[in-house]
Amino acid sequence: MDLTFKLYPILNSQGEFTLELSTVIENTRISASVPTGTSVGTKEAVSFSVVQSIDAIKRYNLLNILKNKLTELPTPREFDEILINLDPSPNKQGIGGNVTLLFSVFYAKVYSFMMRIPLYKLLTEVYYPPLFNTRLGETVLLFNLVNGGRHGNSRLFFQEFKIGFLGKKTLMEQIQLAVLLNKRFKRLLKENNKSYGIGLEGGYIFEATDEEVLELLQRGAEGLGLQPLSDYAIFLDVAASEHVHTEDPQNYTYYIPAKEKIVDVNGLIDWYTELAKKFPIVGFEDPFAENDNLGWEKFKTAPRPRQYIITGDDLTATNPTIIKESAQAKYINNVIIKPNQIGTLKETFQAIHIANNEHITITISHRSRETNDTFLSHIVAACNPTYAKLGNIVRGERTEKYNELIRIERELI
Ligand code: PEP
Ligand code: CA
Repeated sequence: MDLTFKLYPILNSQGEFTLELSTVIENTRISASVPTGTSVGTKEAVSFSVVQSIDAIKRYNLLNILKNKLTELPTPREFDEILINLDPSPNKQGIGGNVTLLFSVFYAKVYSFMMRIPLYKLLTEVYYPPLFNTRLGETVLLFNLVNGGRHGNSRLFFQEFKIGFLGKKTLMEQIQLAVLLNKRFKRLLKENNKSYGIGLEGGYIFEATDEEVLELLQRGAEGLGLQPLSDYAIFLDVAASEHVHTEDPQNYTYYIPAKEKIVDVNGLIDWYTELAKKFPIVGFEDPFAENDNLGWEKFKTAPRPRQYIITGDDLTATNPTIIKESAQAKYINNVIIKPNQIGTLKETFQAIHIANNEHITITISHRSRETNDTFLSHIVAACNPTYAKLGNIVRGERTEKYNELIRIERELI
């Protein structure tokens, strides 16, 4: 098949340019684009600008490789292997993790079109992902209702205030609750004279302290008649690397802006405990900076009001080796999976398999700078993860991903 590829800049959700790759087969346009982050960990695959990406695509002759391979049609796993071998540097410094992911996702989409099977079914067949749940509907969606830190109100210590609806609800039931909660929450903001905007991931931004946000979330959820910890729970992304005050390995300190206070690891753990006693918080993502081993170590044995879901993101960077180490050190019992942190679908699924082998659960995650591409929803549908976070239900690039899940759940795809 003689295909023509087009590579051109499009906008991402932050009003910046990123690349889209597309082709037309049998009058059907197939395209791919990939996200990048704002609070980026140091262990992630590097993300190139548009200019650097085009340069890497030329240097590595990627369009020709793509063209040739689409005539031979190796599996997406074999195609990714070729991409991975082109640049053996640890963080894809030569080729760019966003460049490899763009080609990896694009190839998988074209392949799925040629094989006449939906992308999520193809991913299941190619990568045999472990099924974390028996069906897609059992995945708990974590709706990011309030955006703090670098994603919104920078006076907030927590970057993401997420609500998960518990009790094995279908995806549509969870999304319906999120619709009701959004309505109620906006009303509460108005009643409390909070003028608000929308943050990077569709969550609300307004003047408040971390405690005030948690109180409003609790009032919003309980106003819907939901019981804390049985019907709903709060999951926080601390993204603690963003708040490091001193980087002393024996005693990291962190700055809490709303309190205008510097705390050490013990002080931070005490605050987490105090909050978890007051509010139905079950999840802490990156509660300590990615290199604060002492913090992670101490948190393991710190007294707590209930079991926590402790998630690595900057800590683990979707890197199979680091996920294994962090799980074996018992720092985490859950891990964020972000395809662009590692750079190909093959390595993404490898990370998912490692998490499963280490008996920890996964959270499949979007990034703060997204496009309308919905390949992430297909990864969610391919492995029914325990959790998935796709932002709040507003902002087009987030709603598109929820809508694709709705379509998949209704078997429209
Ligand atoms: C996150 O920190 O989990 C996140 C999704 O944001 P970003 O893409 O900025 O890393
Ligand atoms: Ca995070």
